[in-house]
Amino acid sequence: MRLLPVTLVAGLLATASPAAAADFFDAGKLPAPPVTGQEMANSVGTFSESHKHRVTGTPAETAATQDLADQAKKLGYAVEIVPLSPGGTGPLHAVVATRKGRTNPNEHIVFGAHYDNVAQTVDGAYDNGSGTMMLMALAKSFANVPTNRTLVFAWYNGEEEGTLASDPHAASFKEDGKAVRAMLGFDMVGIGWPVAKTGPTNCLCTWRGDEDDAFDALLRHVNFDVLKFPNEPNKVEVRGQNTRNSDEASWDVQGFPTLRWAGMRTAGNYPGYHKPDDTMAKIDEVAGGRMFFEQGLRNTLLSSYYTALTLDNAQPVARAAATGNGVLTFDASGSSDADGPISDVTWDFGDGTTATGTTVTHEYERAGTYTATASVGDSLWPKVRSTATVQVQAPGKPSVGGPAVTAPPAAPTTPPRTTPSRRTAKTKKATVRCRTTRVRSKKKGGKRRVVRQCRKVRTAKQRAAERKRADAKRRAAARKRAAARKRRGR
Ligand SMILES: [Zn+2]
Repeated sequence: MRLLPVTLVAGLLATASPAAAADFFDAGKLPAPPVTGQEMANSVGTFSESHKHRVTGTPAETAATQDLADQAKKLGYAVEIVPLSPGGTGPLHAVVATRKGRTNPNEHIVFGAHYDNVAQTVDGAYDNGSGTMMLMALAKSFANVPTNRTLVFAWYNGEEEGTLASDPHAASFKEDGKAVRAMLGFDMVGIGWPVAKTGPTNCLCTWRGDEDDAFDALLRHVNFDVLKFPNEPNKVEVRGQNTRNSDEASWDVQGFPTLRWAGMRTAGNYPGYHKPDDTMAKIDEVAGGRMFFEQGLRNTLLSSYYTALTLDNAQPVARAAATGNGVLTFDASGSSDADGPISDVTWDFGDGTTATGTTVTHEYERAGTYTATASVGDSLWPKVRSTATVQVQAPGKPSVGGPAVTAPPAAPTTPPRTTPSRRTAKTKKATVRCRTTRVRSKKKGGKRRVVRQCRKVRTAKQRAAERKRADAKRRAAARKRAAARKRRGR
């Protein structure tokens, strides 16, 4: 019996489905940062209380510098204390911890916070022990998380005198022609969302640089789609262009994209701002209890960590194609990932069978139209996947030792034959009974015409034989599928 040729829709008629809406990396499938709010709050207390009066250029500040360098080293980073005073001598510097990226090491994601105090504060717990330790929590969170881009954690002094250390640091990146995906700034974080009593100045607030409009959508995606934070005034807010002014401004001036996190809308909203009582006790009082500060720190960590991961990675884009006749070749090699090679391609052929590999072959057992789906993993995080589908039509193929499987006949578009075809008579071995009737032509005023209608009449014996053949065919197909599964080791 003649087999219909495979009608290949792939590459001819049907195209792969449009890439899944993947404007952003699916950060929701990545490991959560391993630092609790309590651990962060405790570290803010420890750092700010053991380095009181850390005004730039003082021994207290130098001790704080060394403490931060030691902590970052312990996390496995390459740490440098970078001198930043004009001419190289003077009190300005940054503790810079770096870890090379895997696929895009020449592009940097920079995290920045200042750790110096103004002269009139003592502990500087909120300004900026909080941002200082948020950076350390981020460094810890990324310590065992591979990234495509190079991570840079920069703790600055000289901020309170006018971002004196971050200015030359950002300028040096510009002069050296270094690419920066974004600089993420942290100054006064954690009294945001939640707090015991929400007021008009509260929010876990985020901003972006003045030409970084695209970051608004990114921040909304991470905070509201991935983390499901409340998109409500005075809770979590994406506030648009940066109205705060800290070390990230130094990077913005150089033309680098920037982002900024803070708890409360302005520095002045915090009653301990630049006052001697900027202490843990003051933070607890403003937040309404330590547990609120802890949760606020944790939420800030989640928000910035997943934002950074999204900046570091692009979701893969899957493409599926099929070619061939009979044994079809399925090809996902047109898939791509902006940060590196795709990984871990799997196929679902739509007939209950699957395969692994970028290019695979498959032959359908039964006639029909199938949707085959390619699932493609991200080069860095294979759990983050995109899929693409391709439609194929298969006529089926002969079963071993059994009758061939034919494609289902197309719906008749012509009147039934008035006499049995030779082929029907021969292959079906059915008795054909016909009768003659008169029907009126569809044309208005048309004449009646004679139509001979026939139907096949099978004997009970013939029907039983047909059932038996169909059963045998089904069993043979099931055996073949089982054997195929066994061969694949599934
Ligand atoms: Zn500050």
